Amino acid sequence: MATNRQIADGALKQSKPIPTRKATKSPPSVAGIGRGARSPAKKMASAVSGAESKSLLESLGVLDDLMQRKGLSDQHAALRGYRQSILQQLASMHGLGDEVVTRSELSGPAWVQRFPDSASTAELERTFKTGVDAFIASMKEGHASVTVSSTYRPLERAYLMHYAYEVAQGTIRPQDVPPQPGVDIQWDHGNDAASKNAAQQMVDAYKIVKEPALHSRHTERKAIDMTISWADTLTLKDGDGKQVKINSTPRSGMNTDLIKVGKTFGVVKALFAGDPPHWSTDGH
Ligand SMILES: [Zn+2]
Repeated sequence: MATNRQIADGALKQSKPIPTRKATKSPPSVAGIGRGARSPAKKMASAVSGAESKSLLESLGVLDDLMQRKGLSDQHAALRGYRQSILQQLASMHGLGDEVVTRSELSGPAWVQRFPDSASTAELERTFKTGVDAFIASMKEGHASVTVSSTYRPLERAYLMHYAYEVAQGTIRPQDVPPQPGVDIQWDHGNDAASKNAAQQMVDAYKIVKEPALHSRHTERKAIDMTISWADTLTLKDGDGKQVKINSTPRSGMNTDLIKVGKTFGVVKALFAGDPPHWSTDGH
């Protein structure tokens, strides 16, 4: 995947020249730029950073255009990150605080595709990963089918899911949602109905059925969701190398004999109901 820098460089090379009007005009979020240059030294510094600011502002214009384009939606998070870093450079050049450049984006379903869960065991905490990999390998050797749907959940996603649910339910006012670093979201649409409606659209797109936790074994890299099935009898080795034959039903991850085998690998089936694919370090 292209890095932010590559995307921006490519975009600058391909794009048409940007009208000077756009480049010289400060965006509203960097208001105050260029003020206070009185002494000769300050004037000089202002001239230098003025040229730098100009090129940064040009990059911003290009990024804004790119973000409007269809077909680049999967690059949105990267573009937004790059955009934010330019705004921060501009602010620090002009001695302004980061809060000046924060341009948040309203809540809504566009957030749902960002910060995806991982489905790779490589993202798991090391000890748990070792157990999970061995357990899955053992099941597969016994010809079971194992499909991993989720391992690590980024904190950003947990935050978005949790507060989308709370705002939609009305258990928290949108203006009271605490900020999350790296998630520049505006929960407050100016009125309660619009704020709740946008949050509900996120809840629907995430397919949330009950309140998602802000912190869970998934955000700690200590949980895995996997769908397991097999035909007839499953013969596999447990974590101590002992052969186990499972004739019982159901032929799924809910099978109590398989749950015992999982434990020998340090992979514990969910202790709570209603989450069939969930396993973790301790069943939480
Ligand atoms: Zn889970």
